[in-house]
Amino acid sequence: MATPSPGAAPRSPVLRLARQDDGSAEVFASLQGEGPFTGRPSTFVRLSGCNLWCRWCDTPYTWNWEGTPHPHDEDRKYVEAEESVHHELSEVAARVAALGQRALVLTGGEPLLQQRALVGLRATVEAHLGPVTVDIETNGTVPPLPGFDATVTHYVVSPKLANSGVPEGQRLRERALRWFAGCDRASFKVVVGSEGDLAEVLALQQSYGIQPERVWLMPEGRSAAALDRSAPMVARACLEHGFRFTDRLHLRLYGSGRGV
Ligand code: SF4
Repeated sequence: MATPSPGAAPRSPVLRLARQDDGSAEVFASLQGEGPFTGRPSTFVRLSGCNLWCRWCDTPYTWNWEGTPHPHDEDRKYVEAEESVHHELSEVAARVAALGQRALVLTGGEPLLQQRALVGLRATVEAHLGPVTVDIETNGTVPPLPGFDATVTHYVVSPKLANSGVPEGQRLRERALRWFAGCDRASFKVVVGSEGDLAEVLALQQSYGIQPERVWLMPEGRSAAALDRSAPMVARACLEHGFRFTDRLHLRLYGSGRGV
């Protein structure tokens, strides 16, 4: 391995990000559309790559590569090199700072797959912009490492149910779920499309000792019409069990495109 020359600037870690239709990285300002911080102006950084393969995933362009076997409702495969862009952390931080929002949301894909490279992001953004909050949207399969956890304000953990089509052994990782259940900076958000899904949510909540007020149920759907079909059942379940309800505000405001 080459020794860096004295005085050479250390290289910034490189992040793999999702690509927008115009070819740029998917870093954008919008209103948070789901979960406990719905409606909050935020800057989103969408990381590319996921360790799961949910059949209804609304960002399959972050993981559903050509040559992989996993089925998806959209019935389309993506070319990894065309859908991902690589940028140094310093470039991403400058883009986040230029958007000017005080809330930063790291999403994906599964952002915790890149947690080692993301450690310095908050400090670099704050050097430009002043204090920010950093929230992580995660599928709850990868426990955070201490160095990265120290930079995180809140986790929104979205364990996947059987409706995802992913085998249980892959989607429910006990060590990670125990970590998040024991973290007072973690909320849970679960996609529910049927009464059967609800039984799984209750089993998870009870197994991991998660108080119902930490759980947001979200109707399954990638269009307003689809959300409307399951919303009444989800609302009834929230009333009955003390869970919170979350809609998908961004879908209603902006539709299902990238960068919104
Ligand atoms: Fe998509 Fe999230 Fe499932 Fe990954 S965990 S496939 S990003 S819904």
